[in-house]
Amino acid sequence: MAKGTLYVVSAPSGAGKTSLVKAMLKQDQSIVVSVSHTTREMRPGEVDGVDYNFVSMDQFNEMIGQADFLEFAEVFTNKYGTSQRWVEDQLEQGKDVILEIDWQGAQQVRRLMPDCLSVFILPPSREALEERLTNRGQDSEDVIALRMSEAVSEMSHYGEYDFLVINDDFDQALLELHGVFLAQRMKIEQQRERCHDLLASLLS
Ligand code: GDP
Ligand code: ADP
Ligand code: 5GP
Repeated sequence: MAKGTLYVVSAPSGAGKTSLVKAMLKQDQSIVVSVSHTTREMRPGEVDGVDYNFVSMDQFNEMIGQADFLEFAEVFTNKYGTSQRWVEDQLEQGKDVILEIDWQGAQQVRRLMPDCLSVFILPPSREALEERLTNRGQDSEDVIALRMSEAVSEMSHYGEYDFLVINDDFDQALLELHGVFLAQRMKIEQQRERCHDLLASLLS
């Protein structure tokens, strides 16, 4: 079976990456998303093991010591990291894997897995970004202010990515994001392996 493709999706906080990725997973069962480990506090409605694996700083440091992470980074005073073993297992099973990680993590992943594809998501304006962070209603005013102040520095990394999607109209952005995955899957080298029997019978 062909190995899956690794995708990195980044965006400033509130641009809509989690909503877009969730909507795409509903439509496409061959894509899975990595559940990161984080030291940040759980938001209302978040579920441990589903949205994140919520861990203490001690547990996080122990995982670093055991080389459990494919990448990790400090974002907005919290630590976030991706489990290496889980990602490798899913790719081996032929699944496309999404990492929803920040630009620092993306740089580490590109160095380790140069075949990965990366997508950056931007909001249609700074005002829309602030409005979305506020309307999400899950972060305190201080946290929102910190995330807005970091947004320009996060967004300045868009040029390091392979694809750029502007999340203005949600359905259009979803179509564009999914389009990246579909186009990659239709590449000849992937189709040759996937459609081996059909190609053999058509050409015999
Ligand atoms: P949200 O993006 O506003 O929903 O905020 P989160 O608290 O979910 O994520 C905060 C930041 O951490 C974002 O920039 C994420 O992309 C990043 N992040 C989440 N998980 C990981 C991870 O496993 N590794 C890295 N490097 N960054 C992560
Ligand atoms: P991120 O994961 O990038 O921090 P979220 O997916 O949590 O962002 O989205 C932030 C907020 O913006 C959520 O309340 C979400 O419902 C809303 N949102 C996402 N995309 C759009 C869009 N295209 N138009 C309006 N609101 C949006
Ligand atoms: P939030 O705390 O709002 O869920 O996420 C804040 C930021 O952390 C987002 O930009 C998100 O992409 C990033 N993030 C979440 N998980 C990881 C991770 O495992 N690694 C890295 N590097 N960043 C992450």
